[in-house]
Amino acid sequence: MILELPKKNIEFGNMGYIKNGILYVLRINSFFDLMYEITYCIYGAERCWYCGQSCKRGKGEKEDMRPRITLDHMIPTIIGGPTIVNNLRPCCPKCNSKNKGDYTAEQFLELTKMENEKKKNETRIYKINAVNNAIEARKREMRKENEDKKRGKIPYLPKEYTEAKVNGQLNCLIHVDTKLGKQFERQKKFYKEYDRIKQPVIVSSNNYVLAGMNSIFIAKIYGVPEKLQMILLENVILVERGRS
Ligand SMILES: [Zn+2]
Repeated sequence: MILELPKKNIEFGNMGYIKNGILYVLRINSFFDLMYEITYCIYGAERCWYCGQSCKRGKGEKEDMRPRITLDHMIPTIIGGPTIVNNLRPCCPKCNSKNKGDYTAEQFLELTKMENEKKKNETRIYKINAVNNAIEARKREMRKENEDKKRGKIPYLPKEYTEAKVNGQLNCLIHVDTKLGKQFERQKKFYKEYDRIKQPVIVSSNNYVLAGMNSIFIAKIYGVPEKLQMILLENVILVERGRS
């Protein structure tokens, strides 16, 4: 798939840079930070993508009472949503908390629309119960659908995410500071419970694993390589550097 990038060339310090529509990643362990920065570059860091609430980035001025911006996964991580620009949007804390929960962006927008319609009709009491029931019924349907995605019963990633196939062998750079500990244990537990590998593997166009090492370990331990979901970022290159 093609990673969403700003049109202009930008440098991100020692993390990487964008040149002529290609993202060059300089440090594999800042890949997620790069994804956050690029999302803010494209979608701004001052407004919630869902409700339009004005936000601030970082601590800001003392008198600036606006809530701090967060990033939301449009497809929640629990159902396999990857941490890449295409799946991230700036979001106010309110939308990113209980409100959105584990709903997808699409579902959340649909529910918000229903709630807004309800508010418009709030004076017509006789209708409210019916509307509430309709909203609750829709929520149940959505939760069921998400549960099936969580268990891998229905596809949980959009087709365009996994269309491009990795060709050849994967290159893995494991850093001495890579912690297999808690994250790995959590993913293992998830696999046992849902019979699905939680996170897709994200691969650069030169076949480097950018994220999802834990998933690879789980596939190996349980002997289920067919259960790995691969996302090949066709416009991202990991710049190899000699170890010093
Ligand atoms: Zn919001």
